[in-house]
Amino acid sequence: MYAIDRDPLLLTPGPLTTSLRTKQAMLHDWGSWDTAFNHITGEVCRQLLDIVHGGNTHVCVPLQGSGTFSVEAALGTLVPRGGRVLVPNNGAYCARILKILKILGRDAVELPTAEDRPFDPLAIEAALVADPRISHVALVHCETGTGILNPLPEIAAAVARQQRGLIIDAMSSFGAIEIDVRTMPFDALIAASGKCLEGVPGIGFVIAAHAKLEASAGNCHSLAMDLHDQWTYMQKTTQWRFTPPTHVVVALHEALAQYQEEGGLAARGARYQANCQALTQGMARLGLLPYLAAQAQAPIIVTFHAPQHAAYDFLALYQGVRERGFILYPGKLTQIETFRVGCIGALTPQDMVHVVDAIASTLVEMGVLAAP
Ligand SMILES: *Cc1c(COP(=O)(O)O)cnc(C)c1O
Repeated sequence: MYAIDRDPLLLTPGPLTTSLRTKQAMLHDWGSWDTAFNHITGEVCRQLLDIVHGGNTHVCVPLQGSGTFSVEAALGTLVPRGGRVLVPNNGAYCARILKILKILGRDAVELPTAEDRPFDPLAIEAALVADPRISHVALVHCETGTGILNPLPEIAAAVARQQRGLIIDAMSSFGAIEIDVRTMPFDALIAASGKCLEGVPGIGFVIAAHAKLEASAGNCHSLAMDLHDQWTYMQKTTQWRFTPPTHVVVALHEALAQYQEEGGLAARGARYQANCQALTQGMARLGLLPYLAAQAQAPIIVTFHAPQHAAYDFLALYQGVRERGFILYPGKLTQIETFRVGCIGALTPQDMVHVVDAIASTLVEMGVLAAP
């Protein structure tokens, strides 16, 4: 129906649309013993550490796999077997942390919060005061299930006051939303190659307080997930412990060069904010409203209420928009029908205008919207 001479643009929060330069960086083969390759790994780790100003206190440990592998590795390595983790829960990725802790046999305390409400730092602090046996808080910064932004600076301050460890799943915020370890202390932060850094998927990384990582030897339940072992081996050899995802590493290196050229975190965050604004304004003109209040919305992914119309069906919307060159994301809420549109990736506000046009013409074709 539509002749599209490019890959579909991914309006999904990972994998996401990458630049041609990033794709082209993958057109080479690298040996894992090669010093040039291992130099690239070292440079990538240094740059990731710099994004949170952690060079003096923290280290960066990369790990093969999707982001969840690194979340599991961080929890399994840094929480001792006798530890207890407070998990504020306002969405799907918080629930995933609870599931991981259960499988790892680590004690967890859930602090349930409505899915459209950011966490209350006072409630978190009260839970820590009430239970001195809680050793860590595991916090999802941007809950990608809805797109909500949780108040990290205030929570980090509360956790530090109560002298517990903070482990942050910053998967969908790292690189676009300010995180500064000098003012927001944390034990560990987890993110991945294929989100706001606009690399391809395949590596997670954990930025861990050096002293905490050093003290974690022997905690981990698993060989492959043991970040202490991964770190120790890398320090000794400069190599990855097991076969590295070489193409993903060089693509991330190239993506980081473009990140710096664009202007770093401030510029990346501003572009996503402009994408988010172009998207929500265009959708509002179609009568499609976001699930979250504007002040709780991170400029990463937007959850929209599905149109209230008998002819609406997500798969039909997905298919029509796909034919027009864009890929959407289903909703993750159980109670109400929604769909999600990501704002991250190598996309501009102009792309977001085109996405809205594609959604509009598909909904007209489906009979959900009247022809303009
Ligand atoms: C993407 C993401 C993850 C990791 O998901 P994978 O599918 O394993 O890459 C974890 N937490 C959050 C908040 C995320 O957005």
